[in-house]
Amino acid sequence: MLLIRHGQPGQEKPGLVLDGYRYDLSHFGEDFDEKFFASDGLARLAAFVDVQRELLLPIPPTTRLGPPVARPSKIVCAGLNYTDHAAEMGLGLPTEPVIFLKATSSLSGPNDDIVLPRGSEKTDWEAELAVVIRKRASYVSEADAAQYIAGYVLLNDVSERAYQLERGGTWDKGKGCDTFAPLGPWLATPDELTNPSRLKIWLSVNGEKVQDGNTANLIFRVPYLISYISQFMTLLPGDIISTGTPAGVGSGLQPPRYLAPGDVVELGIEGLGSARQVVRAAG
Ligand code: ZN
Repeated sequence: MLLIRHGQPGQEKPGLVLDGYRYDLSHFGEDFDEKFFASDGLARLAAFVDVQRELLLPIPPTTRLGPPVARPSKIVCAGLNYTDHAAEMGLGLPTEPVIFLKATSSLSGPNDDIVLPRGSEKTDWEAELAVVIRKRASYVSEADAAQYIAGYVLLNDVSERAYQLERGGTWDKGKGCDTFAPLGPWLATPDELTNPSRLKIWLSVNGEKVQDGNTANLIFRVPYLISYISQFMTLLPGDIISTGTPAGVGSGLQPPRYLAPGDVVELGIEGLGSARQVVRAAG
């Protein structure tokens, strides 16, 4: 299944993509949130769709999409998880996953604007494969990790490099600004994505392709990351793990290039659709 949420910010309703068309699932009566995933909502939803399929109402293609999961307890990110990206950042290869948290208030819809925070001069892009957790995960083994996956989704890990790297302390100041986590268009359940370890991933700015990678080049793969992170914190249903970005971020270019008002960012992953974000300055 390909799960979406549609409608105005904060008032999104559940929906589904079937054969390339979007359908409303308001009458399913549940949001795609922690409670939904924790109570095996995916199985319930599949049964519902089986019965209701002919009765589903299409959504106009102009309707706004929200993030395909409701705000989770955590967004955990892996940093420097592609060899070529670690090199372009001038940082060594990690011997263990680098992890950090992204504020859940930074979540936005896949085609919402990226808002440059006040004073920002170095806002950058990062196309990433993200995973959504299906059930409570604590001290999970790598071999068991697949059971904990609700699905996969596209994420832009928008990052303000000056806040991240030049303002002291950890990376979090540059990672959690509002609109810095456009998520979607859809959550693809594992049956929809046969090989998450071999997906093309790309991002363009104003039509120029700047990231052109493949998840085959992840240093630490999804099952390992779930197991690893679950040694340090309990992952709750609906939580998001973003797996890191390949080479081609703005700060890695010569000379570096950062987002400006009016820029258009487009990104995609094979099987996970594409997203388009227009950049604007904060009010
Ligand atoms: Zn990232």
